[in-house]
Amino acid sequence: MHKALALYSGGLDSLLSVLIVKEQKVDVIALKFLTGFVSPLKEDDFNYAKQFDFEIREIDISEKFIEILKKPKHGYGKNLNPCIDCKILMLKEAKELMSAYKASFIITGEVISQRPMSQKKELLTVIEKESSLQGMILRPLSAKLFPPTKSEIEGVINRNLLYDISGRTRKPQIALAKKYGIEKVPQPAGGCLLTDPSFCKKVKDLMAHNELTLKNVELLKVGRHFRISEKCKAIVGRDEKENKLILSKYKGLFLYPSDLKGPVVLLSGDYSEKEIDITASICVYYSKRKNAEIVIKSETEEQRKIYDAILEEEVVKYRV
Ligand code: SF4
Repeated sequence: MHKALALYSGGLDSLLSVLIVKEQKVDVIALKFLTGFVSPLKEDDFNYAKQFDFEIREIDISEKFIEILKKPKHGYGKNLNPCIDCKILMLKEAKELMSAYKASFIITGEVISQRPMSQKKELLTVIEKESSLQGMILRPLSAKLFPPTKSEIEGVINRNLLYDISGRTRKPQIALAKKYGIEKVPQPAGGCLLTDPSFCKKVKDLMAHNELTLKNVELLKVGRHFRISEKCKAIVGRDEKENKLILSKYKGLFLYPSDLKGPVVLLSGDYSEKEIDITASICVYYSKRKNAEIVIKSETEEQRKIYDAILEEEVVKYRV
């Protein structure tokens, strides 16, 4: 049986592409590439894999991706999404895995002209060239709008059973979802945080302060963020769950009201008394009080002091 590797985002288009190719008696292994900005495989993904009988795997490319994010050769999309470079990286990684999986081609869920940046026909050709996969990438949803690929020429794939979908309309994909019996239709794309403007604002702050690391990106997913000085940041837990997470998972200076009626705040980086005072007053502000006794706890010592809440206009100034 012939085998193919699929770039699987967890979105509808990537799932459909897997199913279209599987229907042609090709064994498909779906690869979800973890960049640090997309969620890992979810229960739904495993359910689809079970329902439609395909193998599914996660491949961590976050270390390589973060370097690309700092300076993408092909630039950013509407937000901080370096989609062209990201696709090239994923394809190169998939190419490396082809022989291990005995796969003869790669599938993607790309649809011509669906997204402004990475899915223009010319750009798809550039992506193919830069990943050294000319003729090896099958895009089942738009295949008839491209020249035949190697798998079609060699008769592994019947081109007549592929599609010619283009543009932003979702109707053909919804109809296909119905045809395949996909009851819970996933979102079009896999939910990359680099397309979310408010998340990108926080990533830009890390970049501006030369602090873009995977560890710091993980921290961006928790709490409200404040740039207290050029060299330090505070993260304020938004609820009980985040407070516990901040206390258990991270290192730095912790601040919280002594009666525990308010947030846990993590101050990290290089800070002095001045920055600790500002952070403590932010902690009081989010405790919704005019003043409170704040515990300031480092790895080696613990202090308690009464602080006034910071003024609202000041909070805005520090918020990332
Ligand atoms: S949206 Fe995110 S995961 Fe998808 S191609 Fe662009 S950068 Fe990569």
